[in-house]
Amino acid sequence: MKQMEEMILREGVVLPGEILKVGSFLNQNIDTTLLGQMAEEIARLFEGQGVTKILTIEASGIAIAAAAGIAMGVPVLFAKKHKTSNVDGSVYSTVVHSFTHNEDYHVVVSRDYLSSSDKVLLVDDFLANGKALAGLMDLCDQAGAELAGIAIAIEKCFTGAGDRLREQGIKLESLAMIESMSEDGITFRS
Ligand code: 5GP
Repeated sequence: MKQMEEMILREGVVLPGEILKVGSFLNQNIDTTLLGQMAEEIARLFEGQGVTKILTIEASGIAIAAAAGIAMGVPVLFAKKHKTSNVDGSVYSTVVHSFTHNEDYHVVVSRDYLSSSDKVLLVDDFLANGKALAGLMDLCDQAGAELAGIAIAIEKCFTGAGDRLREQGIKLESLAMIESMSEDGITFRS
C-alpha cells in the first residue's frame, strides 16, 4: 500500500535489534487518515471471505483491528496479556514470546467471545518472527474457530515467517512489506 510505504520512509526510525519505530503515525500518535485507508484496504482484501470476527493482541494491534472491524462491519476481540496463566476455566490461554520485550507472557481470551461458529481474521501491527500470530492461531484452535486469514500493517519479510505462513496456504496480506532495513535505509518487496 503506497501510502503506508511513503509514511514509513518519511517517519519510520530504524532502531538497533531490527526494530522499526512507528510511534509518530501508528503505535502512539495515530494518523487517523492513514488508519482509515489501512482499514479500507484490509476490508477490500478480505471481502467475500466470510469473516465474522477480528482477533488481535493488546495493545498495539487494537487500533488497526478496531478500524478494520468498522470497515468490515464485524466485532473486534483482543487477547489480553497476563504475567501468569490466570487459568480458571473461563478463558482460552496460550504463551507468546514478545519480540520487543524478549520475554514470555500469557495471552487469554474469554471463552464467551470466541467459538466454533467464528471465522476469524487475525490483525496485527507488525509481523516479525510470527510468535504473536502463532499464539492467536492457538487460541482460535482451542475455540474451534476457523481462520479466514491474516492482515498485517507492516511485515518484516526478511525473517521469512510471513512466507512460511503463506506456504501453509494461509491468506496473509501485509500493507507494507519490508525486504531490508538498516540505519542506511528501508527497501520494500515489490
Ligand atoms: P512476532 O511475534 O511476529 O515476532 O512480533 C510481532 C509483535 O512484536 C507485534 O505484535 C509487534 O507489537 C511487535 N513488533 C515486532 N517487530 C516490531 C518492530 O519492528 N517495531 C514495533 N514497534 N513493534 C514490533
